[in-house]
Parts: sequence; structure tokens; C-alpha cells
Amino acid sequence: MTQRTSESFPGPTSAQILSGNPIRDQIYTELEFEIAALRVASVRPGLAAVLVGDDPASHIYVKSKIAACEKLGLGSWQFSPPPSVSTGEMLEIVADLNRREEVDGILVQLPLPPQVDVKRVLEAVDPDKDVDGFHPVNLGRLVGGHPGLVACTPSGVMEILRRSGTVLEGAAAAVLGRSDIVGKPMALLLMHANATVTICHSKTRDLPSIVRRADVVIAAVGRAAMVTPDWIRPGATVIDVGVNRLTDEHQVERLFANFPSRLAQFRQKRSTIVGDVHPDAITVAGAITPVPGGVGPLTIAMLMSNTVKAARLRRGHARGMSAARSAAPPAR
Ligand code: NAP
Repeated sequence: MTQRTSESFPGPTSAQILSGNPIRDQIYTELEFEIAALRVASVRPGLAAVLVGDDPASHIYVKSKIAACEKLGLGSWQFSPPPSVSTGEMLEIVADLNRREEVDGILVQLPLPPQVDVKRVLEAVDPDKDVDGFHPVNLGRLVGGHPGLVACTPSGVMEILRRSGTVLEGAAAAVLGRSDIVGKPMALLLMHANATVTICHSKTRDLPSIVRRADVVIAAVGRAAMVTPDWIRPGATVIDVGVNRLTDEHQVERLFANFPSRLAQFRQKRSTIVGDVHPDAITVAGAITPVPGGVGPLTIAMLMSNTVKAARLRRGHARGMSAARSAAPPAR
């Protein structure tokens, strides 16, 4: 099924716009069927979120995640230990959530305060409840092509690629960024889909020439508009994971010179979000995700999908219509 939309984009357009919102909605519809099937078996998947401190972005993320649970009828719980929480206390909270039968997914919102050993806390989460897909056991399962919980953002990118009909088999893919939460799992998922993957990072030599050879480009570096149009092979599919907030008027005027409506929005709000790909790449790419509204909407959808998948796997239920299953590497 194709999800490439020709929705109006405020500027010069030649590429298909791969909007994340209709794909997110489609995944939610599929999850509703699966949740209803689990309900018949008296199972209500549930997500527990642990949020420490008062980072405004973290509060917004957790609120959105809880709201998504409520929209789908999943159970949800929020735990907010004080900012002075110790590693030991965090480990106790996680151990309690690991034991609770009604909790299928555990989400520890990052960042944690500096006194907390983040790695120990994340590794204490039961891998079968690790809906963020951060646990080394789940990364190992992904490497081996075994069923498991896969990090949400790269899973969401795979949904965009699959549902837009992008051919991955035999394709040359360039993944820009090698973080544990985006770049590495992304490269593994693409490799399992039979793409030939080049993983790039800050020490990669002549990055533009590697990107120019790619049929599929995944940009996840966190550098505003780093990937310029001359890096893109004409017709390539470009997935922009980057989220960069800009407030410098001159920079924004330069980047969005061909996008008057984006400039007008900036002038009202005095800030804007740009991806890692230059907005003008839209004139060269064959298909491209917008920022915002591309990969972003899929991340929470895949968290919901992982929570339902965790409930199903933990309780030994047969596969339903879970969107999460398509994010798992194919059986070989
Ligand atoms: P990260 O942990 O900071 O990793 C960035 C990666 O980019 C690193 O591997 C780094 O290389 C590489 N890099 C940095 N500068 C580079 C350069 N000049 N050339 C080539 N590679 C370079 O970031 P992340 O967590 O993976 O996130 C990446 C971006 O995605 C951020 O903008 C983040 O906000 C966004 N994001 C969006 C979502 C979403 O839902 N839309 C979710 C997660 C992340 P080294 O390894 O050599 O340092």
C-alpha cells in the first residue's frame, strides 16, 4: 500500500512527501484490532513510564505517550521519583515494575539526573518489557534476527519505507549516525531487509560521495540541514530523522529562502524545527520525509506497537495484526 502523499508542501516540490501522520493513523487502526483481540482474552496491555526531574521536553514526551495509551485503551502508569533519586532507588522501582504482571512495557524517560547510573538502570529493565528496545539483549536479538523489541524510531522509519513501497532489497542505503538508539538499529533493520548498508559517522571521510551513491539515505546526526541537495542522488529516498530547533533569523532565512510559508511561521514563533537534511533537497530527492511531521509521529506509534507486542509475546498469544511485527527482522 502506498502512503506517498501529494499533500501541499509550502515550497518548491518535486519529491513525494512521505508524511508520517497517515502512517501513524494506519498503525493505530491496526493496533486497535489487536488490542480488541487481546481484550477478548482478558489481556489489557499496559505501559509504565518513569519520569525524573522537570525537563520540559521530557514532560511533554511522557504526557504524549500516556495520552497515546489512553487513546488506544492501554493501561498506563506514571512514576515520578524526586530529582534526588539514587541509582539504588531507581533500581528498586524498575525491579518492582519487572515483577508486576499487569505491566507489559517499562519506559525510563531520559535524561536521568547525573547521580543516576543510566546504563545500570536501563539494563535492569526486563528485556521482555523493554519497549524502548534499548536493552543489550534486545539489540542482540536484532543482530541475530530473532523476535524482540526494536527501538521505536528506527522501527518507525522501516514502517515509512515499507508502507511507501520503497524497494530495499539490493538498494544502497547510507545511514548517517551510529547511535545505539537510532543509527545502529537502523542499519541492522535495513541490512535484514536486504539493503547494502554503509554506516557513516563523524569520522567518515568524504561523506557527500557516500551519500551520493545511496538509493536510500537515513540522516540521524542532529546537525541542522547538514545534508545539502548536491549530496543527494536524483530520485533517492531521503528519511530525515533529525530534530534541530533554530532561533537564528539569518540562518533560518538562508535555509528557508524558497519556503515563504515556513519563514512566515518562523517570524511568528521566533523558532522553528529543521531536520538534518537541507529543505531544498526536496527538489532532488524522489521521496522525502518532512520535518516536522515525518519520522516524529511514528516514534510514539511504535512505542504503542511495542507495548502491544510485549503483551502478546509475554503471554504467549499468537500474532495478530501488530504493526510491530513488520519492524522485526524477517525470518531467515
Ligand atoms: P546522537 O546520539 O548525538 O548521535 C549522532 C550521530 O551522528 C553520531 O553517531 C555521530 O558520530 C554522528 N555525527 C555527528 N556529527 C556528524 C557529522 N558532521 N558527520 C557525520 N556524522 C556525524 O544522536 P541520536 O540520538 O542518534 O539522534 C540523531 C538525531 O535524530 C537528533 O537530531 C535527534 O534529535 C533526532 N531524533 C529524532 C527522533 C524522532 O522521533 N524524530 C528520535 C530520536 C532522535 P560519532 O558516533 O562519530 O560521534
